[in-house]
Amino acid sequence: MPELPDLAVVAEAFNAALAGRPIVDALAPGPLAVRGTPGELAALIGQRIRRIERTGKFIVLTLERDRVVVNPMLSGRFQLAGAGAARPARTALVLALGGRPSPPADPAPWTAGAPWLPADEASLEVRFRDPTQMGKVYLLPAGVQRAVPGFEAHERGPDADDPDLTIEVWQTRIRRHSGELKNLLRNQAFVAGIGNAYSDEILHAARLLPFRRRSSLASEEVDELYTAMRRTLTTAVEVLRERVPPTFERQVRDFFAVHGRGGLPCPRCGGRISQLSSGGFVTSFCRACQR
Ligand SMILES: [Zn+2]
Repeated sequence: MPELPDLAVVAEAFNAALAGRPIVDALAPGPLAVRGTPGELAALIGQRIRRIERTGKFIVLTLERDRVVVNPMLSGRFQLAGAGAARPARTALVLALGGRPSPPADPAPWTAGAPWLPADEASLEVRFRDPTQMGKVYLLPAGVQRAVPGFEAHERGPDADDPDLTIEVWQTRIRRHSGELKNLLRNQAFVAGIGNAYSDEILHAARLLPFRRRSSLASEEVDELYTAMRRTLTTAVEVLRERVPPTFERQVRDFFAVHGRGGLPCPRCGGRISQLSSGGFVTSFCRACQR
């Protein structure tokens, strides 16, 4: 499941590569994934992309007039391809883009001069595809009210990497929740952007067990959870900036300490990593060094 680090890298890279380009065609080979009418899809043609951002576990394309919001859910992936390149199966949406007069004024610094950046005059396609077909693309034309589940302001807490989410704000917000820590980290109304994999990584970094209850945490543990969350996400974003481009649909997870590594030695203490599976979701942790 794409989470904050995966989507942050896609958003930063796509913003650098695509902002300023006009949409010259808009197709929905997988129309069931698209929430919007064929007329609304066709009305995207001719609009320029102003910017591409991540918020929570959503990618938001702001166009000159309308917006497009994508929720990749479990397996949605984004692809950048040359115009006319073969499309993979289960492609839900294709936006064909033309050349642009100049790159955006404020691209993410790490993208400057990157070899995968297409030439400004190049024509290309951005595609969204989803093997499990659970992801959704929401067309949000100006003036049209369309519900995007999980995206509304009251459903979404601050982003886990939001500078305004200071440790003081964290201490206040976390008091309202008493349940298990893994569920808490995945609760988008508490903090947005973290899912099943990174919650395991953060809890390992904080030396806290996933099934510990928040109400059992000492104040130092509340603070350590915050520090571990920030450190884990920042490190992951740095790794993915190096590893993901130019194949943006690739999900790189081989640098994880515990998640999905059941039975292997813990990189911190050498203990054997435990792994539980429930409802198709894996939880991995180290009983030896997490409390
Ligand atoms: Zn350990």
